Amino acid sequence: MIATRRGIAYTDETLHDRDTAGVLWTRYGVAQGHGEPLYGSVHPLRQRRAMRRGICQMCAGPPDHDEAGALWLLDDGRDSRYDWPEGEVTTHPPVCLPCARRAVLACPHLRAGHVAVRVRHFSADGVYGTLFRLRGGRLEAGEDTVVRYGDPAIEWLLAGQQTATLIGCTVVDLAESEGARAS
Ligand SMILES: [Zn+2]
Repeated sequence: MIATRRGIAYTDETLHDRDTAGVLWTRYGVAQGHGEPLYGSVHPLRQRRAMRRGICQMCAGPPDHDEAGALWLLDDGRDSRYDWPEGEVTTHPPVCLPCARRAVLACPHLRAGHVAVRVRHFSADGVYGTLFRLRGGRLEAGEDTVVRYGDPAIEWLLAGQQTATLIGCTVVDLAESEGARAS
């Protein structure tokens, strides 16, 4: 990777290395090391597509929907602020009910560390990745962070995952969703 006048670039960059907003993405096959994927290792292209389209990240089908919105499984942030998860920025795309059930069964800690949320609106408005900076003329990796589209800092970010901002959120009980569907 090199630094240009505007930001970071690959020396042998192709059209596929940037998204439609011009953000540089981690190449597949490269060790990720960004964040903790919710369901084992998530392919970055799959994660990105699921987030942009608002589809289930595991089966690529439509997410579960009811009158309160689409189903998302989020890292539990209820202790972080009183209005969580309203306005939350997440890297985990929505899920359908069978995949949510499968994920929770396959991964017991999911039940403890994650919360089912109904979301009315989302905007795939940023990326999560590693911020680079120039120090003494050399490019060096800085912190892993979220940068929104439109922020000039995004030119210095190597994106690993698409993020979305969630609006109109309601915390729900996944077991109740399952029960409602079964009856
Ligand atoms: Zn699914």
